[in-house]
Amino acid sequence: MPPPISIYDSPAIDRLRAELKFEPRRLRALRTAYFKKCLGVDAALTELPEHVRNQFSDRVQFHLLTPAESHDSQVDGATKLVLKTPAGYAIETVIMRTGTGRVSLCVSSQVGCAAACGFCATGQMGIAKNLSAAEMLDQIVLAGERMHAEGRHVRNIVFMGMGEPFHNEAAVYDVVAALLAPTLFHHTPGRILISTVGIPDAMIRCARRFPAVNLAISLHSVRQTVRERLIPLAIKYPLDELRRAVVAVNSIQQNTLMIEYLMLAGVNDSLADAHEFATWLQGLNVHVNLIPYNPIATAPELRSTERPERDAFAAVLREAGFITTIRYSLGADIAAACGQLVQSENREIARRQAIGATS
Ligand code: SAH
Repeated sequence: MPPPISIYDSPAIDRLRAELKFEPRRLRALRTAYFKKCLGVDAALTELPEHVRNQFSDRVQFHLLTPAESHDSQVDGATKLVLKTPAGYAIETVIMRTGTGRVSLCVSSQVGCAAACGFCATGQMGIAKNLSAAEMLDQIVLAGERMHAEGRHVRNIVFMGMGEPFHNEAAVYDVVAALLAPTLFHHTPGRILISTVGIPDAMIRCARRFPAVNLAISLHSVRQTVRERLIPLAIKYPLDELRRAVVAVNSIQQNTLMIEYLMLAGVNDSLADAHEFATWLQGLNVHVNLIPYNPIATAPELRSTERPERDAFAAVLREAGFITTIRYSLGADIAAACGQLVQSENREIARRQAIGATS
């Protein structure tokens, strides 16, 4: 018996169709049902001619992630799905149902993260393993099926879960290509957002390849020393280089780039910081998203900026002409808010695999 073919491996699925000799339109219908409408495996299979249905389902692997846990927030519209990869790692995907009825999905690109930002629980996991494109796409389909069951659909897809998307650049591009493909998800590019810690070359490559897809940078400070303390990778990618990359991205794409700014009391939230920030942003096509800090166990010294200071900070930016919004993360009660995604048992799995690999 040959190994199963992943439904996410489009060329191999096309070859299987030729081998089983059924019409291309039947495969198109299956893909529409599975990827675009997220109707589930059984409903998708009914699109195939009856005489090949069993052979197709025997040879093809649909979901490769195993749902392990699901937590619904009791205070807002968030649901956190914990999914197991074939290697046994637990990853997290967060469904965010907003008040307007729209659904955003926060997708993980890695198990852990090498960026190791001190304020982020994922960065403190101490491992970083890339997810495959299929493992990212399956998060989207599984969440999509759940939304279908509720009579909703996923409108926005944000790469803001565990991991640094540009440390897994090739696979993330495969995911975006599949999301945009008319024969697969046919998702609107403007409803995809990739958030990065700030890797200049990758941002430019991404804008060139997918000019209509949105980019966001986790800036968090325009003072080099402060930023280095918050984000170790800032040493490798200094602020002036990052700013040049934003200028380049602005010249390639029409989209307004999102600048994320985590607000930490006494660290980066003074009025002087706000003015410096506004000066740094001059001339850029950006909007600012201020992020209240969600406390994490490994950074007890950090505190969120209080509301009056945050509003004063926002006012400076708005007066300087920048659209400034404040992010209200959902799911704090189920540890699903920004920066809270962590699965510590992954460390043990990584350790066992490392031992297995060397013995
Ligand atoms: N690696 C990417 C995407 C993942 S994090 C990036 O750095 O952008 C998504 C956002 O959540 C980032 O802006 C990140 O800085 C922010 N974040 C991380 N930890 C947080 C915390 N404890 N509270 C609030 N936001 C946090």
